[in-house]
Parts: sequence; structure tokens; C-alpha cells
Amino acid sequence: IYILAIESSCDDTSAAVLHNNKRLSNVVATQKIHEEYGGVVPELASRAHQQNIVPVVHQALAKANIDKKQLSAIAFTRGPGLMGSLLVGTSFAKSLALGLNIPLIEVNHMQAHILAHFIEEENTKKPAFPFLAMTISGGHTQIVLVRDYFDMEILGQTLDDAVGEAFDKSAKILGLPYPGGPLIDKYAQLGNPKAFPFPKPKVGELDFSFSGLKTSILYFCQKKVKENPNFLVENRDDICASIQYTIIDILMSKLKKAVKQTGVKRIAIGGGVSANSGIRKALVDAEQRYGWETFIPKFEYCTDNAAMIGIVGYLKYKKKLFSNQDISAKARYVLTDSEK
Ligand code: ATP
Ligand code: FE
Repeated sequence: IYILAIESSCDDTSAAVLHNNKRLSNVVATQKIHEEYGGVVPELASRAHQQNIVPVVHQALAKANIDKKQLSAIAFTRGPGLMGSLLVGTSFAKSLALGLNIPLIEVNHMQAHILAHFIEEENTKKPAFPFLAMTISGGHTQIVLVRDYFDMEILGQTLDDAVGEAFDKSAKILGLPYPGGPLIDKYAQLGNPKAFPFPKPKVGELDFSFSGLKTSILYFCQKKVKENPNFLVENRDDICASIQYTIIDILMSKLKKAVKQTGVKRIAIGGGVSANSGIRKALVDAEQRYGWETFIPKFEYCTDNAAMIGIVGYLKYKKKLFSNQDISAKARYVLTDSEK
């Protein structure tokens, strides 16, 4: 089975070809244009998707050494995401499936961040069911109990900002360019994580809140800059290390709660923030410390990419979970509402 997958939910245009559960190609065109605005501009994102999509698909097919006539189905991100962006990928996928007269498969982006663990890779193990998935990305922060590929339950999630936003907004306060998450990670590795203690939010059970943390970082920085205008420059590494330490502490303490509540000790992370070196290290440590079995995706499958859409496409293909041509993009698309 050959699946062509299309991802266009936010600011990355991506296409991938999978042969069964193996990735043959995974091409990602990252849109640089948003950097100068300090965040994703939806209008510009859709336009860039429209420019990129045909070349990106061509590249994915060429790298996989596959002719489009060999394709078994087209999988695409239906949502959640930016409507204008989703429409580009959705319309393209529908047209191509219609033209080639092959099945069309809709995919929920958040389900894909979790199921990316099932892409066949050398030296990577796949989680057995049931497992706990913590999805930490630019738009979401969720702890999900995964009983089977398409049997998931959200146990907790953020009540306000996503963890990726917490990274990006903190970076903005420090004057770092967008997206700031990877930069905070880079500088954090040079700093002292205990230099500046930030308060942890008090939210119930398995839910998260990051907007208060962002505000306290903002007030802290403003106050310090008043005393010393060079404070942020002089203490960049220590501030980044302290922010990252606080965020990871929050994520790990929620995971511990989830393990306690469910008795499930298999933990898989997904989404852009799982590229973070601190969270990766904390999870590896947790194997020793708490006897967890942890699953960390390859970097390539952490941030937005079409290969993760392709694996869901493959899993749905096997179950003949096909979509009709009257399907439309869905900007707000809850994981548990996915067609199954
Ligand atoms: P969603 O998947 O919720 O729709 P999204 O697709 O925009 O959101 P992803 O591409 O999965 O999000 O993740 C992007 C986020 O990951 C950004 O906020 C970015 O700063 C963050 N990120 C990427 N690498 C790192 C890193 N090394 N450390 C911290 N954050 C990171
Ligand atoms: Fe994403």
C-alpha cells in the first residue's frame, strides 16, 4: 500500500509517501515569512501553502521514486488548524484523489502527532496499548489515554495557552525571534535552571495552565530591566534555563499524576515541544527513576510533518476508513471526534 499524505494545518507545507508503515519520503517546506511578524499570519500562510503544495508533492513523489499512478490512497489533515491553511491541503487532496480515482482519507492532526510513534524506524520501539500520550505542541497540551489506534480519551489539557505558546511567548519577551521554543532550548543548555524560580500554576488534576507563567515571566523581566537595562542580555542563558526547568517540572508532575491515576507506565510524547532536549532528558531519567517505559519520536516526527499523517492514513486504509468527496476542513477538530 502506497499512501501520499498532505499536511497544511499551520505554517509548514508537507507531503510524504509511505509504503505500508515505512516512510519513503517526508518533505517539509517551512514558511520563513512569519519570522518578521513574530508569529504566524494566517492570510500569508494560506498563500504560501498554495505556492508550495505542488512542488512539495512532486518532491515527495520523486524522493520516494514513486509514480502517482502507483498510489493506493491520499491522506490529508482535515483539522485542527488554521482554516485557510487547511483548505489548501484539503482541496488539493480531494482533487488528486478524484483525478486518480483512489480513496481519500481524512486525518486528525492531533491523532497524527500521537500515532507518529507507529512509523516503522530502525532502532525505535513502538508503544504497546494502552499507553499515555502527552501531546505538547504549538496549539495543544494534552494527556491522552490511548487504548488502541482509534480509541483515545483525553484525560487532561490546557485551560489557556499551549506549552509551545509558553515557550514562544517567553522567547518574545526576551527579544528572541519566532518561533522561540528551539532558541530557549539552545540557551537553556548553557544556563543555570535554578537561577530564577518561577511560580508553578495551581490547576486541578491533569489540566494545565500556562498563561500565568507567561505573565510572571513578563513582570519579572520588566522589573529587572528597570533596575538594569542590560539584564536580559546579561542573563539570557540563566533565564532560558529557568523557564525551561519550570515548564518541564510542570509537565513531569502532571505525567506522574496521570500514571498514578491510570496505572499505565508507558509514556509517549508527541508534538513540536517533544523536540525539546530538557523534556527528552527528563523522560529518559524517568525510566530509571520511576520504572516507566518511555517513547520519544525522532526529531523529524515531532514538529509538523506529513509522514505522521501518512501513518494514520495507512492505519485507516487497512480498516477501509475512507472519506467522501463532500468532506470539508475543520478548524476546531477534537481528537475524540475523529471519524473511525
Ligand atoms: P498543533 O499541533 O497543536 O496544531 P503546531 O502544529 O503549530 O500546533 P507543532 O509544529 O507541533 O505545533 O509545534 C510547534 C511548537 O513547538 C512551537 O511552539 C515551537 O516553539 C515548539 N518547539 C519546537 N522545538 C522546540 C524545542 N526544542 N523546545 C521547545 N519548544 C520547541
Ligand atoms: Fe502540530
